[in-house]
Formats: sequence, C-alpha cells, structure tokens
Amino acid sequence: MVETDKPHEHVAIERFSPAGPLAVLPLTDPEGDGNDDYQTGYRRSVVWVCPKGEDKYLADDAHFLATLQQAFGERAGTFVAAGRRGAYPLTRVLADKQVEGRCVIMGNAAHTLHPVAGQGFNLCMRDAHVLAQMMSAQVLKGEDIGDTQLLKRYETARLSDQKRVIRFCDAVVHGFTHPNPAIKLARNVALVAFDKLPNIKPLVANYAMGLKS
Ligand SMILES: Cc1cc2nc3c(=O)[nH]c(=O)nc-3n(C[C@H](O)[C@H](O)[C@H](O)COP(=O)(O)OP(=O)(O)OC[C@H]3O[C@@H](n4cnc5c(N)ncnc54)[C@H](O)[C@@H]3O)c2cc1C
Repeated sequence: MVETDKPHEHVAIERFSPAGPLAVLPLTDPEGDGNDDYQTGYRRSVVWVCPKGEDKYLADDAHFLATLQQAFGERAGTFVAAGRRGAYPLTRVLADKQVEGRCVIMGNAAHTLHPVAGQGFNLCMRDAHVLAQMMSAQVLKGEDIGDTQLLKRYETARLSDQKRVIRFCDAVVHGFTHPNPAIKLARNVALVAFDKLPNIKPLVANYAMGLKS
C-alpha cells in the first residue's frame, strides 16, 4: 500500500518499462471511525514487476518511495507513505489436467497468469460461472453433479478461453518489453490509437472480459 498527495479518483494507472509493468491501483478505504490517520481516497496498491533478484521493494520506506517516484513519474502525484511490501515469483501455469475423477482444480491452481492485464481473477469467475451453470442443469435433470463426464465437459468448454487469455497476457508482456525499435514504434502508435480513437476501449474491454472473442 502507498499513499499519494493526489486523490486516486478510482483510476488505475499502469506504466510499461523494458523490465515489466508498474501499476498503481486505487484502494478502497477501510471502514473507519473518523480517527484513522489516512485520508480518504489517497491509498493505492502498487504492482511492480522487477527482474529476478532485484530488491527495490525491500528498501527502507524513504528509498522505496523515491525509487517508485522515479520509475512511475508524477501522474499519481507524490508518493508520501508506504506500507508493508512483499515479493512473489511470477510463474505461468496451465495445469495438464483440471479434472480427475470427481475433483476439479480451479483458480490459480488451474491457471496462473502474468498480472500485466489483471485477468486472472476474471478468468476464475468465468470458470466458476460455467461450472455452476453445468451443475445447475445437472441438478434439474436429477443427475450427479460430480459425474466425471460432466466435469470433463467443463474442462473442455473452458480451455479455449483460458488459452486465449494466456496468449493475450503473453502478447502484452512481450509487446511492452520487446527491445526491437520497430515493435516499440508499432506499440506506441497502437497506444495512442487506443487512447484517441472512439469505441476501441469498449472493444478491448469486452475481449478481455471474454464477452467477445
Ligand atoms: C500482483 C497481482 C495482481 C493481480 N491483479 C489482478 C486484477 O487486477 N484482476 C484480476 O482479475 N486478477 C488479478 N490477479 C490474479 C488474481 O490475484 C488471481 O487470479 C486470484 O488470486 C486467484 O485466486 P485463487 O483463490 O485461485 O488463488 P490465490 O489467491 O493464490 O489463493 C490461494 C491461497 O491458498 C493458500 N495456499 C497455498 N498453498 C497452500 C497449502 N498447501 N495449504 C494451505 N493454504 C495454501 C495461499 O496462501 C493463498 O492464500 C493478480 C495477481 C497478482 C499476482
């Protein structure tokens, strides 16, 4: 958690560097009794992808805030306070099998994605929705919700969306970290177009949410 001198206004900001993305995301304020020492609407979480072995996050608060400010710039204002930090290795996972007998693995255990596009939890929700629908239909037919054939059909039904999102996240990571100047130019043109052209953002958002393929 960090605090800025500018309110977040519920806007997430992500910057891309050759080392990986750096995202600053709005945080909901905790329920308070009015005596807490935080200002409403100024708390944000930070997702900072660093090369293996880098330990920027471990530095003392003042050094961490200065390094973050330098890497992120002024878009979110000045970083004035930092909370506890942790580091996690980023590992891509797509389980060989998501179903065995009457057991289904879901969520990160089934697929772990790069957080570049914030897609992992959305994907888990779509998996859960499809499984719930299939199980409801099974209940209405008076049949077993743990039937292996049903669960296998669930796995098959979800694989294409899961692979699509993994490819999408990989493409975003490679697109933003690739050193080739031609790819950098194409990326920058695409970003400007994304920002300026009407109707592109809803299209990309729908694609990312799995509403259109
Ligand atoms: C930095 C980051 C940012 C993200 N941002 C977004 C986003 O903006 N939008 C989005 O849709 N998704 C996002 N995701 C992905 C999202 O966090 C995951 O999809 C989601 O957390 C998966 O939930 P889960 O319950 O399957 O796994 P987890 O959240 O990983 O939960 C698994 C839990 O099991 C515990 N556990 C593990 N092993 C054991 C064990 N042996 N015994 C007992 N407990 C155990 C772990 O400690 C953990 O608490 C992000 C991921 C990361 C890393």
